[in-house]
Parts: sequence; C-alpha cells; structure tokens
Amino acid sequence: MDDLLIRDATIVTVGPAGVVRGSVYVVDGRIAEVPSSRRRAATVIDATDRLVLPGFVQAHVHLCQTLFRGLADDLDVVEWLRQRIWPLEQAHDEASLGASAQLGIVELLLGGTTTVLSMETTRHTHASFEAAAELGIRARIGPALMDRFEPGPEMIGQSTDEALASLTELLGPWHGAGGGRLGVAASPRGPRNATPELWAACVRLAAEHGLTLHTHVNENRDQSERLAAEPGGRDVYALDSYGALGPSLVMAHGVWLDDGEAALARERRAHICHCPSANLKLASGVAPIPAYLDAGINVALGADGAACNNTLSAFTEMRLAALLHKPRYGAQAMPAERVLEMATMGGARALGLGDEIGSVEVGKRADLIVVRRDRAHSRPLAHTSAPAALVYSCDAGDVTDVVVDGRALVAEGQLLAGSEARIVANAERQRMALLARAGLSGAASRPAEANGDVSA
Ligand SMILES: [Zn+2]
Repeated sequence: MDDLLIRDATIVTVGPAGVVRGSVYVVDGRIAEVPSSRRRAATVIDATDRLVLPGFVQAHVHLCQTLFRGLADDLDVVEWLRQRIWPLEQAHDEASLGASAQLGIVELLLGGTTTVLSMETTRHTHASFEAAAELGIRARIGPALMDRFEPGPEMIGQSTDEALASLTELLGPWHGAGGGRLGVAASPRGPRNATPELWAACVRLAAEHGLTLHTHVNENRDQSERLAAEPGGRDVYALDSYGALGPSLVMAHGVWLDDGEAALARERRAHICHCPSANLKLASGVAPIPAYLDAGINVALGADGAACNNTLSAFTEMRLAALLHKPRYGAQAMPAERVLEMATMGGARALGLGDEIGSVEVGKRADLIVVRRDRAHSRPLAHTSAPAALVYSCDAGDVTDVVVDGRALVAEGQLLAGSEARIVANAERQRMALLARAGLSGAASRPAEANGDVSA
C-alpha cells in the first residue's frame, strides 16, 4: 500500500479540530486518519517537537518573474512595469521561462508553499507547466493575456486571437494533468489590459472547463482613478460588465476598491489575494483587508513576483499581513489564526479547492508541511500558540518536509524532486542570456557587487 505517516507532531489542522497532538496517516495521496495512533507506514516522517500543517496556498505569483529578482527595485508600479517587467517578460524564451519557473518553484516548495496560482508572460507557458510537472508543486497557471495596450508602447500586446490561442493550446496537455494537480487559469493581465471580447471569451472558457480567472485589480491609486474614467468605470464594475465577477475570479491586490466595489465583490463571491510585500515595495498602498474579511469577502495571500518582493516566502507575507493592519484597525484585527487561515484555506477557496486542500482533515489531499521549532528564534516552546509561532516567529528556513498529494518533495530541508544546485546554476546562465536579449545587460537597478552575478 502506498502510505505515509507523519509521526508524533503538533498538528495545526486549520480545521474544526484546531491544534491536536498525534500523527497524520496518508493513503494513496489523501489524509486517512488524523490524529492517528499508527506507528508504521511505507514512508515515515518523524515530526517530534515539530509542527505539521497544510501547505501554504499562494493565490498570486508570477513564476516568470523569478529570474528578474533584484533587477527592478525601488520603482513605483507603472515605472516598474514600463522600464523592467514588460521588456524582460517579452525577452523570455522557452529556456529562460523554464529556468525562472523552476527557480521559483524550488523556493516555494522549500518554504512550504504547496499550491500556487501563477500568471506567466504572453508566450512559452508550456515551459512553466513542465517545471511544475517535474518538481511536483500543485499549480494553476495561465499566460498573461493582453490584447489592449496601456499605458505605454513598451508592452507588446497580442491580437485577441493570438491571446486566446495561447490559452486554449494549454487546455489539452495541461488542464487536469498530474492527476488534477495542474490546471489552466485564464489570466487577462488587468481589467483594462484585455478587451471586453477577450474577457467574454475567458469567462466562457472558464465556465466550460472549470478554469480559475486571475487578474490584477485596483493595485495603484492613480492608475485606478485614471481607468475609472474610462467606459465601464472602476475595475470591479468593469469586471462585472464582462461577466467575470464571480466565484471563479481571483483579484490580486484589491488595494483601492471603493465601498460599492467591495459590496459587489462580496455579492458576487469573487476572491481577493492580499500581497502585502508587493503593495509596500511598489508604494501601491495598504489594502483594507480586515474590512474585506469582516464584510465576508474571501481573502487569500500571495507573494506576487520575485521582482517586487523579492522573496516568495509565505512566512514573510503572513507576518506582514498580521502586522500591517494593526495600526489602523487595532492590535486584535488580524490575529495569527486568521492570517494562517488566509494563507491556507483562503487560498484553497480562491482556487475552488476548498474541499480538497487547505486544512489537515480526513479525505483531503495530503498537501502537508513540517516546521521545526528547535532554533533559537522560535524558542521557548512551553505555553506558546502554534499559529502565533508560525506567523510571528518561524520563517521559510524552518520548513523541513513538504508533501504534495502524499508524495515527499522536500525532506530535512533538501529538495528531493530535483537538484537545487543545478536549477540555480541554470537560472544564472539564463538570466544573463535574458538580459542580453532585453538590451538590459547594463541596466540592473543597482551597481553590480564585486561578487555579483554579472559575470556568471
Ligand atoms: Zn502580480
């Protein structure tokens, strides 16, 4: 029998059982008993003095941008897009995109993220799927769809037909691949980066094939206000006019929704993905997340891309999500349990996977992580709350084991699913080739350090 036992742990279920002691028993990729008193299985992970919890679900990342880490610092979102992100994304070829996705997935898995919703660039999305298939992460991935040109000519868009083809060609090979682990997302880059015709086609495809819809919404105030003057009005109203505002839609950021937009998002049961690091680093603002949650909107967490964060750590996002809102809403506004729920179940619900992942409960898929607590920064253990330790003290380096669909992908902090050293070395080579193609070899956002990466 294909079984696995994570033994003698403190289990943070993020479900009705709360925090329990014992073991988690997994059969054929699903959780069979929790807490279990079994002692043996084909694979045993000893989690004595460690925490076991559901893997993190990040509902807004860009695997294609991992290769841009450190190349686009200290810019606001519009300059960041025009000067760096669009030229770099357009310069991707299949090899550089694959290297970028691999690097991102390795970082995500080692830091305990087991599921992502990722928006790629306009082309070569097969390469990101291949990386996800090879490394074992659960993912919903889609090409960025852009058949409208805003705000500058740097963004080389596509025709509506080209954009649609870049999406539909992925459905056969990848939607439902890996036993359902992989799926396609329809990802118009923003409400105004795609025409109403393209949006309508995405909504049709999403209904027909069960695709997640994924886009950026009300990220930057000036941009939101400028676009609000266009036909269709503010972002959320525009999305509603396309028929896109519903339970399949994940709206990244949602920093500047007005009251009417928030009420409509709630009514239509659309999801918001909170990206606190990216919102701070690009000076976009602070989304009123406690108000959205109190209004009944489902909120997930995401690191966004490595070009605007610059890590992909769920721990960093949890810590910021817990701290950022306290000055405005009070010290009790975002308790650790609420943030941990957002980082797991919030993401699962956003991806339509609330019955499958996001908590440690019998019948769910075994997407589980183990977190050590034997380092000074998370001690002492006695009388501490496990959720608070995860949100306030632990970090990505504390993750020892990662299991997806019952398959161990990381053990004792080491990647099992591939060679981290090989993937990092390949990323260095592909970064140099990408910069040369983009004409940005001399334009890194900071001078190269003596031991920097420019000679790799
Ligand atoms: Zn983004």
